[in-house]
Amino acid sequence: MRDVEVVVIGAGQAGLSSAYHLRRTGFEPDRDFVVLDHSPAPGGAWQFRWPSLTYGKVHGMHALPGMELTDADPARPSAEVIGAYFDMYERTFDLRVRRPVDVTAVREGKGGQLLVESSDGVWSTRALINATGTWDRPFWPRYPGQESFRGRQLHTAQYTGPEEFAGQRVIVVGGGASGTQHLLELAPYAAATTWVTRHPPVYRDEPFDENVGRAAVALVEERVRQGLPPRSVVSVTGLPLNDAIRQGLKDGVLDRQPMFDRITPDGVEWEDGRRVEADVTLWATGFRAALDHLAPLRLREPGGGIRVEGTRAVADPRIHLVGYGPSASTIGANRAGRAAVRDIRRLLGTEPVAA
Ligand SMILES: Cc1cc2nc3c(=O)[nH]c(=O)nc-3n(C[C@H](O)[C@H](O)[C@H](O)COP(=O)(O)OP(=O)(O)OC[C@H]3O[C@@H](n4cnc5c(N)ncnc54)[C@H](O)[C@@H]3O)c2cc1C
Repeated sequence: MRDVEVVVIGAGQAGLSSAYHLRRTGFEPDRDFVVLDHSPAPGGAWQFRWPSLTYGKVHGMHALPGMELTDADPARPSAEVIGAYFDMYERTFDLRVRRPVDVTAVREGKGGQLLVESSDGVWSTRALINATGTWDRPFWPRYPGQESFRGRQLHTAQYTGPEEFAGQRVIVVGGGASGTQHLLELAPYAAATTWVTRHPPVYRDEPFDENVGRAAVALVEERVRQGLPPRSVVSVTGLPLNDAIRQGLKDGVLDRQPMFDRITPDGVEWEDGRRVEADVTLWATGFRAALDHLAPLRLREPGGGIRVEGTRAVADPRIHLVGYGPSASTIGANRAGRAAVRDIRRLLGTEPVAA
């Protein structure tokens, strides 16, 4: 068993921002802290995103603290651009991310220590920064008849681009950014697309400025303060009415239908008898926080979420969740990393820095 002051789980935007602030405030990698990540390469979840999600198509990627992301080619897949940038970042700040290391459980140890069990052994630590994102927990809702469907079902997490759906009839489920992007990409390839969402989409015409962002974050923040599971950003901000979406609405590609009532072997059906036949159901139904390894600590509230104040788990001040709920954006993750480190310094009895 190895002893450290802080274990960071996850090396996406949130974990790297945390590691940067640890380093900056005097924590030595390997001696005082470790960063564990189960992905094969740098890039956090970005490395798994589909190649047609080019850098130019992402909503707005905030650079990590201390190093700009300059001259990125908007036509290059974001997986490559951000993978290369994170790689450079880890080297520049000598963060020594250990990968692939899968954290399987975090438990209470002796004398107030936490035990972090992983595929590379156990670490004993005084504080934990959990930055495991959501990509590892795709959310698949259940509908009657789902197992009977003879076509293919896949989730956004398995989508690799529109080409493989050429000539097929595709149902896209979900009213978020991924759902609309899939539909716009699939339209030129697929034989037919059908878009279903639980709630009518809300489009946002005004620019996504700081006030809109702040209001959205405040709404999600309130939920996690109450111990409810966080909601996605789009559910509180609406879909940006950009040129691509406007065109999709005009062309009828974004012709939203209410959620179907059941799935049949050949497609889907509504209560009123309407049916759509399909070869593929693509579930663009989002992700949930990947927190199963924290289950032994019993942090979950009856509402299903973990109550968090700032980044600190209310039930256990040794534990910080960064990139969770209100900080689940690139800018939020940056700030959360810094806030978590400041708080942990206080917990460990080192002076908080005025950074
Ligand atoms: C399709 C899509 C597009 C998005 N576009 C944008 C955008 O344009 N702008 C924006 O601000 N945000 C965007 N987001 C949100 C985005 O996910 C966050 O902003 C941010 O990148 C998440 O960073 P993170 O560090 O929290 O998580 P991740 O990047 O998911 O990193 C988590 C890391 O933890 C590791 N991990 C997980 N579980 C374990 C475990 N048990 N043991 C060890 N390691 C583990 C994973 O390997 C991964 O490397 C998008 C999200 C999606 C799904």
